[in-house]
Amino acid sequence: MGISRRSALKVMAAAAATMVGTTLSAHETQAAAVVARPDAVGMLYDATRCIGCKACMVACNEANDVTPDTSASGGLWDMPVDLNEHAKNIIKLYRDSGTGAQSFVKRQCMHCLDPACVGACMLGAMQKGEKGIVSYNPDLCVGCRYCEMGCPFNIPKFEWSKAIPKVVKCELCRQRIAKGQEPACCEVCPVGAVIYGKRADLLADAHQRLAQNPGRYVPKVYGEHEAGGTQVLYLAHVEFEKLGLPAYGDEPVPRRVERIQDTIYKGFVAPVALYGLLAVVMLRHREKPDSAKTEEGQR
Ligand code: SF4
Ligand code: SF4
Ligand code: SF4
Repeated sequence: MGISRRSALKVMAAAAATMVGTTLSAHETQAAAVVARPDAVGMLYDATRCIGCKACMVACNEANDVTPDTSASGGLWDMPVDLNEHAKNIIKLYRDSGTGAQSFVKRQCMHCLDPACVGACMLGAMQKGEKGIVSYNPDLCVGCRYCEMGCPFNIPKFEWSKAIPKVVKCELCRQRIAKGQEPACCEVCPVGAVIYGKRADLLADAHQRLAQNPGRYVPKVYGEHEAGGTQVLYLAHVEFEKLGLPAYGDEPVPRRVERIQDTIYKGFVAPVALYGLLAVVMLRHREKPDSAKTEEGQR
């Protein structure tokens, strides 16, 4: 996988030639409110149902050919502490040391309605495609990690350990959905804590649970509006911020990323020069993979 230096530069040249036009047209449409497309699919995770079995983590690795990391534990699989290049999906436990209140929380890509990673990726390696799924094309990726920096949920991770690294993130098991299957994590969950469906149906389901169980939940559906809305939705009985889900407003995050791009493009650096710089960074990473293993994926 990955691309040769020559093809990367070809893509850069093509992208640079169209950059100004596409960037401006994107900006012309960004003022519109974000509305979920009718075919948008997603997941609803209900933290009050999750038993923390982590079967979804194992199923995720298997379904996506992600090799579990056994290097730091003498060959035994040790649970990662956060998402990383070996984990597209993770279950964490929050526990309040004072009250003893606790909750599991599942983390993976949120499949944002207006994804900052797509706005940040200047080569189109991140795309919001069919059913609103945010996918990743390693053949177009130069390893700049703008997607990682732009993501408001700290999701994309970089394969620092590989000679030709890719970005790793949940793609909603789109290979399974294309075959009429549901995401592996949803299929394997023994208690229905995470379910798959159309976003509109999941949202209606979530609001019904809130209405039918007053006092059981924090009274809102996380992801309905946060960061412009997401296709992965959450219900929980513990404040979402404590579970690592930030308290964003309704405004999509791409606007912040695009403001940075504006500064670069319209200011002092020509797009071609920027891409050249990114290519140098990419090639350095590929030549010295061991030099950069302190990435925050180890966070
Ligand atoms: S959560 Fe991050 S990686 Fe996923 S779609 Fe949103 S911006 Fe992209
Ligand atoms: S949808 Fe697929 S890739 Fe995403 S967390 Fe679930 S199993 Fe993993
Ligand atoms: S499989 Fe279901 S119950 Fe088990 S940890 Fe994952 S979401 Fe929670």
